[in-house]
Amino acid sequence: MAEKLKIISLGGLNEIGKNLTVYEYGNDIVVVDCGMGFPDDDMYGIDVVIPDVSYLIKNQSKIRGIFITHGHEDHIGAIPYVLRSINAPIYATRMSAGLIQLKLEEHHLVSKTKMITCEAGDVIQAGKFSIEFIHVNHSIADAVAFAIKCPVGTIVHTGDFKIDTTPIQGGMIDLARFGALGQEGVLALLADSTNVERPGYTRSESSVGNSFDALFKGCQDRIIVTTFASNVDRLQQIINVAARYGRKVAVTGRSMGHRPVHGERHEGVHRAGLYEDPRRGAHGPDPDQVPAQA
Ligand SMILES: [Zn+2]
Repeated sequence: MAEKLKIISLGGLNEIGKNLTVYEYGNDIVVVDCGMGFPDDDMYGIDVVIPDVSYLIKNQSKIRGIFITHGHEDHIGAIPYVLRSINAPIYATRMSAGLIQLKLEEHHLVSKTKMITCEAGDVIQAGKFSIEFIHVNHSIADAVAFAIKCPVGTIVHTGDFKIDTTPIQGGMIDLARFGALGQEGVLALLADSTNVERPGYTRSESSVGNSFDALFKGCQDRIIVTTFASNVDRLQQIINVAARYGRKVAVTGRSMGHRPVHGERHEGVHRAGLYEDPRRGAHGPDPDQVPAQA
């Protein structure tokens, strides 16, 4: 007799944050996402809320891997805490893997953790499961959905997504692949539901660039832009429009300072002579600057 497939949510259902879903078939478990939640007003002195993973600790030997849809905190934030109790390889795309790597370094877990960098189209065998990475659009680069196959059928787990026909980079969500899976037959669709009750659609990230352009165009004074540090596409758009209008860019904020602005893009800003240290000078920053705050 065939085994039963169990789908267990340890967080992320009926709440924002703390996303962690367990798929169990026979002797195999795969985990999708490992996010943190944010404390409620009455949780005095609590900085981080993490899912209760006692079920995973009890079934440690079955865990074949932790698969990450994207690098937002509510999908990766609990990783360093959960890894203290369970040890499992982590499969993630390049952007997510980079952000997880920073957490592992901060918590001295690099040498103990096996990280495997994947890309859309990859199929990973994990016990009796196979997990396919499918490209989706989201407000962070390199987001994926998963087609999770096991002997009783296929589950599609979308993670957070939007349908952006003109994304800044990475191409449009792979609707053709979702269509093909639909043709093959899907046992269950687990889809992100934030804003699902709001009619209409989310505007393309590209449309934000036009708004920036209009705002920067007539402005003589300093411009302050706030955004999530992980929204690299939006940072890129801010930098592009700053370059267009001869502005300098200063970046400040805990996550901004040493996360996505690092690396290639940071170098690009330096090379273009756009970057200003926000702490520069006794008289404060230059009024031509565009500080980006997170
Ligand atoms: Zn997200």
